[in-house]
Amino acid sequence: MLEESVVKNSTAILEHHGTAPGLHSALEEARGQFDVAADQLQLDAATRTLLRSPMREHHFAIPIRRDDGSSEIFRGLRVQHNNALGPFKGGIRFHPDSTTDEVRALAMWMTWKCALIELPLGGAKGSIVCDPRSLSLGEQERLCRGWVRQMARAVGPESDMPAPDVMTSAQHMLWMLDEFETIHGAKAPAFITGKPVGMGGSHGRTEATGYGVIAVLREALKQLDVDPRSTTVSIQGFGNVAQHAARRFVEMGGKILAIASWHTEDRRAYTYRHLSGVDPDELAGITDRFGSIDVDRAADLGYEVLPGSAWLQQPVDVLIPAALENQLTADNADVHPQVKLVVEAANGPTTSDAAAVFAERGIVVIPDVLANAGGVTCSYFEQVQGNTNSYWGRDEVLRKVDAWLTSAFAAVTDMAERKQISLREASYLIAVDRVAHACRQRGWV
Ligand code: NAD
Repeated sequence: MLEESVVKNSTAILEHHGTAPGLHSALEEARGQFDVAADQLQLDAATRTLLRSPMREHHFAIPIRRDDGSSEIFRGLRVQHNNALGPFKGGIRFHPDSTTDEVRALAMWMTWKCALIELPLGGAKGSIVCDPRSLSLGEQERLCRGWVRQMARAVGPESDMPAPDVMTSAQHMLWMLDEFETIHGAKAPAFITGKPVGMGGSHGRTEATGYGVIAVLREALKQLDVDPRSTTVSIQGFGNVAQHAARRFVEMGGKILAIASWHTEDRRAYTYRHLSGVDPDELAGITDRFGSIDVDRAADLGYEVLPGSAWLQQPVDVLIPAALENQLTADNADVHPQVKLVVEAANGPTTSDAAAVFAERGIVVIPDVLANAGGVTCSYFEQVQGNTNSYWGRDEVLRKVDAWLTSAFAAVTDMAERKQISLREASYLIAVDRVAHACRQRGWV
């Protein structure tokens, strides 16, 4: 049964958009980025070995009963990369393409992200290899509870705290919390973040990642002396992160020319272009909860429906990849000549080959560890509010997220300027140095 399920899920990987031939895996990309910083920081061999790999990994089976009475076994994962700065922290994604190496990369990126923003947290990531688009809500609930049953002794408010990621939501977090509290026989709201507001969740958590993306974009435009009101963007993805980034960008006065998203039924991506500008609320009204846009209704609303890759070829100033890893590659890095900035809302969307092309063309990349850190920053605020049992208003939460990211942005651009290096290299120099220092202080290396 276990093997059948694994084979089924591996087939889905090939049909979907896993690492294509010729591309480095997300883990190879993540290690390559780390190696550059390790060389610049002249880290010793032991520290490199420690930081290049996760401290601990959990691989397990999650058996669930399907609604039709049959049993199915899914694969669950939790990769705990490093906890020198504090308890492990990182989301759980549901995706049919999820692989161990992808989750290892995502866990490592969480470590650097938390360190860069100066959160007292380490880095982890989890997943369930599944396609929630073909599971009922009841089946998804049983999967969430199954993940927690397998992990209940290795996670917790003082050791490892999950959060939402791709195709998981506040509802999934609440089911996981409920299972954790049932197992331990006590309330433990700090075990997980991204909970619904009113159930220990923080105002602003749902929109925090997208808001943070636009906060760093705003700061970058300020440095370039460009008015956001005369700025155009093209976005890949229209899920949680992209929808809130789109709303925030339009609030700031900018124009969105195109949005690409994955179409669940057609099993391919489309780009939706509106020459007079995308209305994020209107588009969200015809988008399902997995970020799949209704093609026919989009056409009725006047959108041109183009191939999935067309979002890269639009005459815009800014590209915002907000879907998955490895989307900008050497093969498609010949983006429109007007593009000046790439803001990595997704984790790991730009391969090192594409980054080299962008650098040559003078296109600035704001790296994921900085651009999408609003989510984990707000998760940290959720913990602080839960621990003090006192809750802040939405404006206060988002103002604090903005302030923390703005300050991290300033530190990164200052380092990049002083050393004449890219924003990614500067982010890594700051983050890896902090984690390495914490490891040394603890006497680990
Ligand atoms: P989501 O599941 O809500 O949305 C994903 C979107 O990407 C959907 O619209 C889907 O249609 C689209 N997509 C998938 N494959 C695509 C393809 N090949 N072409 C075009 N569109 C495609 O996920 P999310 O929570 O918005 O996360 C998006 C990215 O942001 C991920 O890399 C995630 O790790 C990262 N991130 C999320 C958070 C968070 O708080 N949710 C925080 C930090 C980083």
